[in-house]
Amino acid sequence: MKAIRRFTVRTVLPEPISALAALATNLRWSWHLPTRELFASLNPRIWKESKHDPVTFLGSVGREELQQLAANPAVVARVQHADEDLRHYLSKPRWYQGLGDSAPKCIAYFSPEFGIAEALPQYSGGLGILAGDHLKAASDLGVPLIGVGLLYQAGYFKQSLSRDAWQQETYPLLDPDNLPLTLLREADGTPAQVRLPLPEGRQLLASIWRADVGRIPLLLLDSNVHGNDDAARTITDRLYGGGGDHRLQQELLLGMGGVKALRIYTRLTGGIAPEVFHTNEGHAGFLGIERIRELMDPAVTAEPLSWDEALTAGRASTVFTTHTPVPAGIDRFPASQIRHFFGAGLAPGVPLDKVLALGAEDYDDGDPFVFNMAVMGLRLAQRANGVAKLHGVVSRGMFAKLWPGFEHSEVPITSVTNGVHVPTWVDPQLSALAAERFGPQVLDGPDWGKVYDVSDADVWALRRTLRSALVKDVRRRLRAAWKKRGAADAELAWTDNVLDPNVLTIGFARRVPTYKRLTLMLRDPARLKALLLNEQHPIQLVIAGKSHPADDAGKAMIQELVRFTDDPAVRHRIVFLPNYDIAMARTLFPGCDVWLNNPLRPLEACGTSGMKAAINGSLNLSVMDGWWDELYDGENGWAIPTANIGTSSEERDDIEAGALYELLENQVAPRFYGSTAVHGSVAIGAGAAGPSRAGGEELLPTHWISMIKHTLAKLGPAVSAERMVQDYVNRLYEPAAISGRAARADDYAQAKSLAVWVARVREAWPQLTVEHVDSLGVKTEPQIGDTITVQAYVTLGGLQPADVSVETAYGKALDNDQLSDTTIAVLDWSEDLGQGRYLFSGDIVVDRSGSFGYTVRVLPNHGALASKAELGLIANA
Ligand SMILES: *Cc1c(COP(=O)(O)O)cnc(C)c1O
Repeated sequence: MKAIRRFTVRTVLPEPISALAALATNLRWSWHLPTRELFASLNPRIWKESKHDPVTFLGSVGREELQQLAANPAVVARVQHADEDLRHYLSKPRWYQGLGDSAPKCIAYFSPEFGIAEALPQYSGGLGILAGDHLKAASDLGVPLIGVGLLYQAGYFKQSLSRDAWQQETYPLLDPDNLPLTLLREADGTPAQVRLPLPEGRQLLASIWRADVGRIPLLLLDSNVHGNDDAARTITDRLYGGGGDHRLQQELLLGMGGVKALRIYTRLTGGIAPEVFHTNEGHAGFLGIERIRELMDPAVTAEPLSWDEALTAGRASTVFTTHTPVPAGIDRFPASQIRHFFGAGLAPGVPLDKVLALGAEDYDDGDPFVFNMAVMGLRLAQRANGVAKLHGVVSRGMFAKLWPGFEHSEVPITSVTNGVHVPTWVDPQLSALAAERFGPQVLDGPDWGKVYDVSDADVWALRRTLRSALVKDVRRRLRAAWKKRGAADAELAWTDNVLDPNVLTIGFARRVPTYKRLTLMLRDPARLKALLLNEQHPIQLVIAGKSHPADDAGKAMIQELVRFTDDPAVRHRIVFLPNYDIAMARTLFPGCDVWLNNPLRPLEACGTSGMKAAINGSLNLSVMDGWWDELYDGENGWAIPTANIGTSSEERDDIEAGALYELLENQVAPRFYGSTAVHGSVAIGAGAAGPSRAGGEELLPTHWISMIKHTLAKLGPAVSAERMVQDYVNRLYEPAAISGRAARADDYAQAKSLAVWVARVREAWPQLTVEHVDSLGVKTEPQIGDTITVQAYVTLGGLQPADVSVETAYGKALDNDQLSDTTIAVLDWSEDLGQGRYLFSGDIVVDRSGSFGYTVRVLPNHGALASKAELGLIANA
């Protein structure tokens, strides 16, 4: 029988324990252990069955049992205590409340995915987990942020394997009523909705769900509503599902619908409108168009702005973060498709050709028929960043075409290195040990240096506990995976003995795009086998990862790997676990001694799984890419050397795989089993390694343990999401708020005058030239300390001296006349030569020996520009 109508009945909790509802719906439980423990204590069996999800849990506990709990004074007291703790957490002033008035009153953070908890599977990988960690750390710091995203009915897919190891995808549907979400409603109780017009007279409606992530509201748009035709209903069906129109409509809903949802939310809650908009990756970029539309719409803005003015005002308060150095990771749509959708009236009053120009690849080797979302993101944001120092360098190179004439180092894309939310990712047993030793307050802002006060024996014992927990979890998951692959219980006894809690355990888990090289370890299968089966220093590997459903190359890599792990000769030492997700990750990171990462440098923008491993005391073994390139220090793990550029990809894999085997065999494994060296000739056979005892004395790998302590003490603070969010606030959000306010003041006076000025500068620029440069004071034998006067004769093409900055750049001159190690000095306007010609001059001091050189260049100059390169205009001598 099929139901003709369905609805979900929410549990009504007895009054004395009614606070459980708020404790279950606020996702703070996902990083607050005491709240999870409270739920677990109410009924451990149902807690386990409900996969540690409080909403499911409350729906599964019977009415009678709830009455009993409500009658139990001890339970009531614990619930009350937790409730007070949550209220306190939500209202207490935090770091942000100590900042001055220039900090933004509210920030909107747009992302296509958010990975917050297993109970809300709205992520595919690192980008989503990062967005989730951003919200959580913002909550802990008291940052007034609102998240905006989509609610995907099936989230990302669940992965399983066929008998022959081919990835299978399933898309179980989620019921929003059983998720920790609240539907946003108008005062009259009807669901609040956003509406976007679609071509052919169709429309797209979406309702708005709110998740509470501690103090942070997260608004998720859902197109699965009455009033939409079937095609429109499926727009938010799944994450990165289809391509083409489906993908574009998701992004239109996220960006344009997201701003509309924010406006509705602000209206309904009487909250403060966001002052700063953060576009987390290009997918959300249409938010900038919607904000321009608002500024040009007389119904919204009393004195509507022109396109140029609205663009200027919008950019001032927008931050764009790029997350990928892989061109295939950037969304590009046919320009005709954008025209088709906007032609339906998505942004009435906004000139369509201007919209198209924002995403145009109008530079060397750009495709004239393509609309590029990253390019639009950069043009719509006055401030932009990559996600690790190296990724900043790579992004400046990758997008340099948008700033022709500039050095790559001057391209205005900075970097903020990603971080991970420590309370989410640190193992509860590690926090428990810290709390027991140093008091619970240590968890509020972990004092990582305290790890040096913990004895080696305790550190090692904890590592063993965490490793053992992983081994247990792996055995359970492996058996379940094999049953899915069609094996019978009778064939699976061997899975009970897979892995050894005393053997050096190495983890590798991440999405499986080709550049991450899942199968690099299989480059020489015999060599890997020898490492796994080494008698004295064996290693074991736990591997996981999903391939994008449309990526057969990734699936083939998984198949190749799984076939290797299926070999009875090695299957007790190497496992592939299907369906990598947050739940698996939480046991995996703490349980591994070493976290392996071997991407093709420099294609890993940052990578965060190694950070999560590090805060649990695992050591990283990684190619010098992403975050590792800036934070590896020689004592916190190992760097896998990279082959020289220019080597063929086959050779490169050979060289780097060889280096990996070498490191494992000669450095990593001996150090892990290092107790033998410390205590002389105690032979440790396979399977009996780790914290062994000889004559009652515990043997400890002291060097390894010192690396663990060093990792926790030094990397802990550097990789935390609190550090990351503080960086965003100080370096991007606050400056964007200041620019945004300046642009808006006095009815957008500055935006208007800046727009006029920019137009004037752009028009005059082609006429602007550096005619001639003189230098005075250059001796026949120049010496360090000599002063040289640089004089530049410049034709300003109608601009005034105040409109430009004339600079000399000087430094070491290389053989090809390229300058390196340059210093910039501004030249002063010293004479009006008439007819638009001006003399600029200034002194430079020769500050180095060897070959010295200088040049002169002219750039636009205006106090409201965030960087000299902002307009992409430069005139070089
Ligand atoms: C951290 C994490 C990722 C991202 O890992 P990378 O190292 O950045 O590739 C992906 N999936 C899950 C479940 C994670 O926890």
